[in-house]
Amino acid sequence: MESTKIINIVHNNEKLSVDTAYNLKNKLISLGYTVSNIFNDAVQLIICIGGDGTFLRALRNHNFPSTPIIGINTGHLGFFTEITPKEIDSFLLKYMSKDYTIQEFIPIKANISTRENCIDVIGINEIVIKSNKSSTIHLDIYVNNNLIQRFSGDGILISTSTGSTAYNYSAGGSIVDPSLNVLQITPLAPINTNVYRSFTSSIILPSDAIIKVNPEYRFEDSLVIVSDGLEHRYNSIMQVDISLSEYKINMVRLESYEFWSRVTSKFL
Ligand code: NAP
Ligand code: MN
Repeated sequence: MESTKIINIVHNNEKLSVDTAYNLKNKLISLGYTVSNIFNDAVQLIICIGGDGTFLRALRNHNFPSTPIIGINTGHLGFFTEITPKEIDSFLLKYMSKDYTIQEFIPIKANISTRENCIDVIGINEIVIKSNKSSTIHLDIYVNNNLIQRFSGDGILISTSTGSTAYNYSAGGSIVDPSLNVLQITPLAPINTNVYRSFTSSIILPSDAIIKVNPEYRFEDSLVIVSDGLEHRYNSIMQVDISLSEYKINMVRLESYEFWSRVTSKFL
Protein backbone atom coordinates (compact mmCIF):
# COMPACT_ATOMS: atom_id res chain seq x y z
CA MET A 1 0.00 0.00 0.00
CA GLU A 2 1.30 3.45 -0.83
CA SER A 3 1.86 5.48 2.33
CA THR A 4 -0.56 8.36 2.90
CA LYS A 5 0.85 11.64 1.77
CA ILE A 6 0.13 14.01 4.63
CA ILE A 7 1.24 17.63 4.57
CA ASN A 8 0.91 19.87 7.59
CA ILE A 9 0.16 23.55 6.95
CA VAL A 10 0.86 26.14 9.65
CA HIS A 11 0.06 29.83 9.13
CA ASN A 12 -0.28 33.07 11.03
CA ASN A 13 -3.56 34.99 11.15
CA GLU A 14 -2.82 37.66 8.60
CA LYS A 15 -5.19 37.76 5.63
CA LEU A 16 -2.56 36.97 3.02
CA SER A 17 -1.39 33.96 5.05
CA VAL A 18 -4.93 32.67 5.58
CA ASP A 19 -5.75 33.09 1.86
CA THR A 20 -2.46 31.47 0.84
CA ALA A 21 -3.13 28.52 3.16
CA TYR A 22 -6.62 28.04 1.67
CA ASN A 23 -5.28 28.18 -1.86
CA LEU A 24 -2.39 25.82 -1.09
CA LYS A 25 -4.67 23.34 0.65
CA ASN A 26 -6.92 23.07 -2.44
CA LYS A 27 -3.93 22.58 -4.73
CA LEU A 28 -2.48 19.87 -2.48
CA ILE A 29 -5.81 18.02 -2.24
CA SER A 30 -6.17 18.05 -6.04
CA LEU A 31 -2.67 16.55 -6.24
CA GLY A 32 -3.73 13.68 -3.98
CA TYR A 33 -2.28 14.87 -0.67
CA THR A 34 -4.02 14.85 2.67
CA VAL A 35 -3.73 18.22 4.39
CA SER A 36 -3.70 18.41 8.15
CA ASN A 37 -3.35 21.26 10.56
CA ILE A 38 -2.36 18.76 13.22
CA PHE A 39 1.24 17.63 13.34
CA ASN A 40 2.26 14.01 13.97
CA ASP A 41 4.86 11.45 12.84
CA ALA A 42 2.93 10.58 9.67
CA VAL A 43 3.41 14.10 8.26
CA GLN A 44 5.95 14.14 5.40
CA LEU A 45 6.30 17.91 4.98
CA ILE A 46 5.53 21.00 7.06
CA ILE A 47 4.64 24.13 5.11
CA CYS A 48 4.74 27.26 7.19
CA ILE A 49 3.08 30.47 5.93
CA GLY A 50 4.07 33.82 7.49
CA GLY A 51 7.47 35.20 8.45
CA ASP A 52 10.38 34.01 10.55
CA GLY A 53 8.37 34.32 13.76
CA THR A 54 5.72 31.95 12.38
CA PHE A 55 8.46 29.56 11.31
CA LEU A 56 10.14 29.61 14.73
CA ARG A 57 6.80 29.11 16.51
CA ALA A 58 5.85 26.18 14.24
CA LEU A 59 9.09 24.37 15.07
CA ARG A 60 8.63 25.06 18.79
CA ASN A 61 4.96 23.98 18.83
CA HIS A 62 5.86 20.77 16.98
CA ASN A 63 8.72 20.10 19.45
CA PHE A 64 11.55 20.65 16.93
CA PRO A 65 10.80 17.76 14.55
CA SER A 66 13.17 16.41 11.88
CA THR A 67 10.31 16.36 9.35
CA PRO A 68 11.28 18.47 6.29
CA ILE A 69 9.97 22.04 6.57
CA ILE A 70 9.61 24.94 4.12
CA GLY A 71 8.35 28.48 4.66
CA ILE A 72 6.21 30.69 2.41
CA ASN A 73 6.84 34.37 3.10
CA THR A 74 3.79 36.63 3.30
CA GLY A 75 5.46 39.97 3.78
CA HIS A 76 7.91 39.85 6.66
CA LEU A 77 11.69 39.80 6.61
CA GLY A 78 11.48 36.06 6.00
CA PHE A 79 15.04 34.95 6.44
CA PHE A 80 13.94 31.33 6.93
CA THR A 81 11.20 31.32 4.34
CA GLU A 82 12.16 29.85 0.96
CA ILE A 83 9.37 30.95 -1.41
CA THR A 84 6.63 33.55 -1.93
CA PRO A 85 2.93 32.76 -2.52
CA LYS A 86 3.49 33.34 -6.27
CA GLU A 87 6.03 30.52 -6.37
CA ILE A 88 3.74 27.82 -4.96
CA ASP A 89 3.00 26.08 -8.29
CA SER A 90 6.63 25.82 -9.27
CA PHE A 91 7.54 24.68 -5.76
CA LEU A 92 4.94 21.87 -5.86
CA LEU A 93 6.35 20.62 -9.19
CA LYS A 94 9.84 20.63 -7.76
CA TYR A 95 8.70 18.96 -4.55
CA MET A 96 6.93 16.14 -6.38
CA SER A 97 9.92 15.49 -8.64
CA LYS A 98 12.24 15.65 -5.58
CA ASP A 99 14.09 18.56 -7.14
CA TYR A 100 15.32 20.04 -3.84
CA THR A 101 17.97 19.52 -1.22
CA ILE A 102 17.76 19.32 2.55
CA GLN A 103 19.82 21.65 4.71
CA GLU A 104 20.23 20.45 8.25
CA PHE A 105 20.60 22.69 11.25
CA ILE A 106 20.89 21.93 14.93
CA PRO A 107 19.02 23.89 17.60
CA ILE A 108 20.77 25.11 20.75
CA LYS A 109 19.92 23.86 24.24
CA ALA A 110 20.10 25.56 27.62
CA ASN A 111 19.95 23.29 30.61
CA ILE A 112 18.83 25.47 33.50
CA SER A 113 19.57 24.30 37.04
CA THR A 114 17.58 25.95 39.77
CA ARG A 115 17.67 25.09 43.47
CA GLU A 116 14.75 22.69 42.95
CA ASN A 117 14.75 21.73 39.29
CA CYS A 118 16.53 21.11 36.00
CA ILE A 119 14.82 22.38 32.83
CA ASP A 120 15.81 22.19 29.14
CA VAL A 121 15.05 25.16 26.91
CA ILE A 122 15.60 24.87 23.14
CA GLY A 123 16.24 27.64 20.61
CA ILE A 124 16.69 27.78 16.84
CA ASN A 125 18.33 31.23 16.72
CA GLU A 126 19.69 31.87 20.17
CA ILE A 127 19.54 31.67 23.94
CA VAL A 128 19.81 35.00 25.77
CA ILE A 129 20.71 35.32 29.44
CA LYS A 130 19.90 38.77 30.66
CA SER A 131 18.79 40.87 33.57
CA ASN A 132 15.20 40.69 34.58
CA LYS A 133 15.24 43.93 36.53
CA SER A 134 17.15 46.34 34.27
CA SER A 135 20.13 46.08 36.60
CA THR A 136 23.63 44.98 35.64
CA ILE A 137 24.16 41.25 35.75
CA HIS A 138 27.38 39.51 36.62
CA LEU A 139 28.07 36.12 35.08
CA ASP A 140 30.98 33.72 35.35
CA ILE A 141 31.32 32.17 31.89
CA TYR A 142 33.12 28.85 31.45
CA VAL A 143 33.95 27.04 28.22
CA ASN A 144 34.60 23.31 28.68
CA ASN A 145 35.08 24.01 32.38
CA ASN A 146 37.67 26.79 31.92
CA LEU A 147 36.67 30.15 33.36
CA ILE A 148 37.04 32.54 30.45
CA GLN A 149 35.26 35.58 31.72
CA ARG A 150 33.58 37.38 34.58
CA PHE A 151 31.06 39.26 32.56
CA SER A 152 29.22 42.40 33.66
CA GLY A 153 26.64 44.14 31.51
CA ASP A 154 23.11 43.63 30.20
CA GLY A 155 23.66 39.96 29.44
CA ILE A 156 24.98 37.55 26.86
CA LEU A 157 23.51 35.93 23.80
CA ILE A 158 24.57 32.52 22.52
CA SER A 159 23.70 32.14 18.88
CA THR A 160 23.66 29.21 16.47
CA SER A 161 25.02 29.71 12.95
CA THR A 162 21.40 29.90 11.77
CA GLY A 163 20.63 32.59 14.34
CA SER A 164 23.72 34.64 13.49
CA THR A 165 21.69 36.94 11.22
CA ALA A 166 19.03 37.61 13.89
CA TYR A 167 19.48 39.26 17.32
CA ASN A 168 23.17 38.28 17.23
CA TYR A 169 23.74 40.55 14.25
CA SER A 170 21.91 43.48 15.88
CA ALA A 171 24.12 43.04 18.95
CA GLY A 172 27.27 43.36 16.83
CA GLY A 173 27.93 39.64 16.37
CA SER A 174 29.27 38.13 13.16
CA ILE A 175 27.22 36.61 10.37
CA VAL A 176 28.25 32.96 10.05
CA ASP A 177 28.11 30.92 6.87
CA PRO A 178 25.68 28.03 7.56
CA SER A 179 28.26 25.45 6.43
CA LEU A 180 30.16 26.31 9.63
CA ASN A 181 28.46 24.76 12.61
CA VAL A 182 29.54 26.98 15.52
CA LEU A 183 28.30 28.61 18.69
CA GLN A 184 28.81 32.35 19.11
CA ILE A 185 28.79 34.15 22.47
CA THR A 186 27.92 37.81 21.91
CA PRO A 187 27.96 40.32 24.78
CA LEU A 188 25.02 42.68 25.34
CA ALA A 189 26.24 46.10 26.49
CA PRO A 190 29.40 44.81 28.22
CA ILE A 191 30.90 47.07 30.90
CA ASN A 192 34.54 47.98 30.58
CA THR A 193 35.79 50.17 33.40
CA ASN A 194 38.44 49.98 36.08
CA VAL A 195 35.88 48.09 38.14
CA TYR A 196 34.53 45.62 35.59
CA ARG A 197 36.25 44.04 32.59
CA SER A 198 34.12 42.25 29.99
CA PHE A 199 34.85 41.12 26.47
CA THR A 200 33.53 43.49 23.85
CA SER A 201 33.47 41.24 20.79
CA SER A 202 31.93 37.85 20.08
CA ILE A 203 33.64 34.58 20.88
CA ILE A 204 33.24 31.81 18.31
CA LEU A 205 33.34 28.24 19.59
CA PRO A 206 33.25 24.81 17.95
CA SER A 207 29.98 22.88 17.77
CA ASP A 208 30.91 20.54 20.64
CA ALA A 209 31.72 23.34 23.11
CA ILE A 210 29.93 23.30 26.44
CA ILE A 211 29.30 26.75 27.85
CA LYS A 212 28.55 27.05 31.56
CA VAL A 213 27.19 30.24 33.05
CA ASN A 214 27.06 30.85 36.79
CA PRO A 215 25.29 33.99 37.90
CA GLU A 216 26.77 36.00 40.70
CA TYR A 217 23.71 37.49 42.34
CA ARG A 218 23.72 41.02 43.61
CA PHE A 219 19.90 40.93 43.59
CA GLU A 220 17.90 37.78 44.12
CA ASP A 221 16.51 36.06 41.00
CA SER A 222 17.53 38.76 38.60
CA LEU A 223 17.96 36.55 35.50
CA VAL A 224 15.67 35.81 32.60
CA ILE A 225 16.42 33.24 29.89
CA VAL A 226 15.05 34.00 26.42
CA SER A 227 14.97 31.45 23.59
CA ASP A 228 14.02 32.82 20.16
CA GLY A 229 12.19 35.73 21.79
CA LEU A 230 10.28 33.59 24.30
CA GLU A 231 10.94 34.40 27.96
CA HIS A 232 11.52 31.76 30.62
CA ARG A 233 11.53 32.82 34.25
CA TYR A 234 12.57 30.57 37.09
CA ASN A 235 13.38 31.20 40.71
CA SER A 236 16.91 30.72 42.02
CA ILE A 237 18.81 29.89 38.82
CA MET A 238 22.15 28.42 39.95
CA GLN A 239 23.71 27.45 36.62
CA VAL A 240 22.92 27.40 32.90
CA ASP A 241 24.71 24.92 30.61
CA ILE A 242 24.51 25.71 26.91
CA SER A 243 25.43 23.43 24.03
CA LEU A 244 24.01 22.26 20.72
CA SER A 245 20.97 20.03 21.22
CA GLU A 246 20.23 16.52 19.99
CA TYR A 247 17.50 17.81 17.64
CA LYS A 248 17.95 18.18 13.87
CA ILE A 249 15.87 20.47 11.70
CA ASN A 250 15.66 19.62 7.99
CA MET A 251 15.04 22.65 5.85
CA VAL A 252 13.86 22.18 2.24
CA ARG A 253 16.08 24.25 -0.08
CA LEU A 254 15.42 24.89 -3.74
CA GLU A 255 18.15 25.20 -6.32
CA SER A 256 17.95 28.99 -6.20
CA TYR A 257 18.95 29.13 -2.51
CA GLU A 258 22.25 30.80 -1.79
CA PHE A 259 22.99 32.04 1.73
CA TRP A 260 25.09 35.10 0.89
CA SER A 261 22.75 36.38 -1.80
CA ARG A 262 19.95 36.09 0.76
CA VAL A 263 22.04 38.10 3.24
CA THR A 264 22.67 40.85 0.70
CA SER A 265 19.07 40.96 -0.53
CA LYS A 266 17.56 41.04 2.99
CA PHE A 267 20.12 43.22 4.79
CA LEU A 268 22.15 45.47 2.55
P1 NAP B 1 10.39 39.73 15.77
O1 NAP B 1 10.41 40.78 16.80
O2 NAP B 1 9.44 39.85 14.62
O3 NAP B 1 11.88 39.48 15.18
C1 NAP B 1 12.73 40.51 14.86
C2 NAP B 1 13.19 40.35 13.41
O4 NAP B 1 14.12 39.25 13.32
C3 NAP B 1 12.07 40.03 12.41
O5 NAP B 1 12.23 40.87 11.29
C4 NAP B 1 12.31 38.57 12.07
O6 NAP B 1 11.85 38.22 10.75
C5 NAP B 1 13.82 38.52 12.13
N1 NAP B 1 14.44 37.19 12.25
C6 NAP B 1 14.06 36.11 12.99
N2 NAP B 1 14.93 35.10 12.83
C7 NAP B 1 15.89 35.54 11.96
C8 NAP B 1 17.06 34.96 11.41
N3 NAP B 1 17.47 33.71 11.72
N4 NAP B 1 17.82 35.71 10.56
C9 NAP B 1 17.46 36.98 10.27
N5 NAP B 1 16.37 37.58 10.76
C10 NAP B 1 15.59 36.87 11.61
O7 NAP B 1 10.16 38.34 16.54
P2 NAP B 1 10.09 36.89 15.86
O8 NAP B 1 9.69 37.01 14.44
O9 NAP B 1 9.32 36.04 16.82
O10 NAP B 1 11.62 36.40 15.89
C11 NAP B 1 12.27 36.05 17.07
C12 NAP B 1 13.70 36.50 16.93
O11 NAP B 1 13.75 37.92 17.01
C13 NAP B 1 14.61 36.08 18.04
O12 NAP B 1 15.09 34.75 17.86
C14 NAP B 1 15.71 37.11 17.96
O13 NAP B 1 16.78 36.65 17.14
C15 NAP B 1 15.08 38.29 17.26
N6 NAP B 1 15.18 39.47 18.12
C16 NAP B 1 15.94 40.50 17.66
C17 NAP B 1 16.16 41.62 18.44
C18 NAP B 1 17.04 42.69 17.92
O14 NAP B 1 17.48 42.56 16.76
N7 NAP B 1 17.35 43.71 18.68
C19 NAP B 1 15.57 41.71 19.71
C20 NAP B 1 14.79 40.66 20.15
C21 NAP B 1 14.60 39.52 19.33
P3 NAP B 1 10.26 38.28 10.36
O15 NAP B 1 9.99 39.73 10.11
O16 NAP B 1 10.16 37.45 9.11
O17 NAP B 1 9.49 37.70 11.53
MN1 MN C 1 8.43 38.38 13.40
